Amino acid sequence: MLNGATLIELTEHYGAHNYHPLPVVISRAKGIWVWDTDGKRYLDMLSAYSAVNQGHCHPRLVKALRQQAGMVTLTSRAFHNDQLGPFLQELCELAGMQMALPMNTGAEAVETAIKTARKWGYTHKNVPAEQAEIIVCEGNFHGRTTTIVGFSSEAQYRDGFGPFTPGFKTIHYGDIKDFERTITDNTVAFLVEPIQGEAGVRVPPKGYLKQVRKLCRQHNILLMVDEIQTGFGRTGKMFCYQHEGIKPDVLIVGKALGGGLMPISAVLASRKILGVFRPGDHGSTFGGNPLACAVAREALRVTVEEELPWRSDRLGNLLIKDLRTIKNPLIKEVRGKGLFIGVELFPEAGGARRYCEALMTEGLLCKETHDDVIRFAPPLIIEQNELDWAMERIEQVLRHPLRR
Ligand SMILES: *Cc1c(COP(=O)(O)O)cnc(C)c1O
Repeated sequence: MLNGATLIELTEHYGAHNYHPLPVVISRAKGIWVWDTDGKRYLDMLSAYSAVNQGHCHPRLVKALRQQAGMVTLTSRAFHNDQLGPFLQELCELAGMQMALPMNTGAEAVETAIKTARKWGYTHKNVPAEQAEIIVCEGNFHGRTTTIVGFSSEAQYRDGFGPFTPGFKTIHYGDIKDFERTITDNTVAFLVEPIQGEAGVRVPPKGYLKQVRKLCRQHNILLMVDEIQTGFGRTGKMFCYQHEGIKPDVLIVGKALGGGLMPISAVLASRKILGVFRPGDHGSTFGGNPLACAVAREALRVTVEEELPWRSDRLGNLLIKDLRTIKNPLIKEVRGKGLFIGVELFPEAGGARRYCEALMTEGLLCKETHDDVIRFAPPLIIEQNELDWAMERIEQVLRHPLRR
């Protein structure tokens, strides 16, 4: 096998440079652990941005994948397959929704939700043609298509990729007054993350989603919650919106739905809302493929049967408490819910990346988000003693300001 340095060179030489990964080459993984090409072991504290909540190569998921791969993997939606129907039923029952539309990536599901809201606005709310408005939040992350980056507030995500799709208005995240004054007769939807992950694990004020829910109902606006990163137990509930006791009109899921084995995403809503689609309105060659559906069905069962939301809640509270005991004047804030935690450093710390590199040396894989936040989001199958092991190393690295 090629050594790590050579593999990195190949990637950098032949691959477009749209990422800046930590210099580690992973060639094997199991549960919460990954190994590099030299056989060094690391605890995965990122979980592929929460796509591997169930842990790497979960034996039940690998078995489901193998079994389905020997039966049928792709039919396209030109024909029915025997996995899609049961998958949709099980997902809808888990989320308490009536209907779902399967796609592959998160961004595709968000695009699907946007199309749903617009069509719904024209057919059910009498919004004049081409006038539908969707409200989004500053700091949002919903994916990387041209339409989606068009309403990002992150300059780098947009720079050089215009012209963009019109019809989006941006408000301050967590500011209910700003939301209320931005609503017009043409507002069809509010698209929001219950916790902003990529913005640095930003948690909105308590009660925010409840107030949003109320205003959406009053003004006949679809509340579309993007749970692609926060869903399936990550924040200590099956879905993060459950912390506020509300229910969205449109739920967007992805990432951990495929258990880290297959890309699969979905939009869920009522029959009335998703009923806006007629044959030919929307589609995807791989959307709803039997291989991904079979894996997702098992991923959902594992999430429920291994009580991942409950584990996340219990262990996350302990980890946050421990992290808050670290005395370092460069730490600005420790925040999050469940095992979805951000440690924000003051700018004087010189950026979170250096700390992630130091943690890597100690055997922990973390990734900075934005310049100053270290995100801790291990697979939800992690055990208390493993978390203690991680905490010892985190403390060693974060206890003292790193020397430049
Ligand atoms: C990751 C993510 C997306 C995009 O998902 P992809 O599968 O990368 O397209 C959208 N929304 C949120 C909140 C995410 O975290």
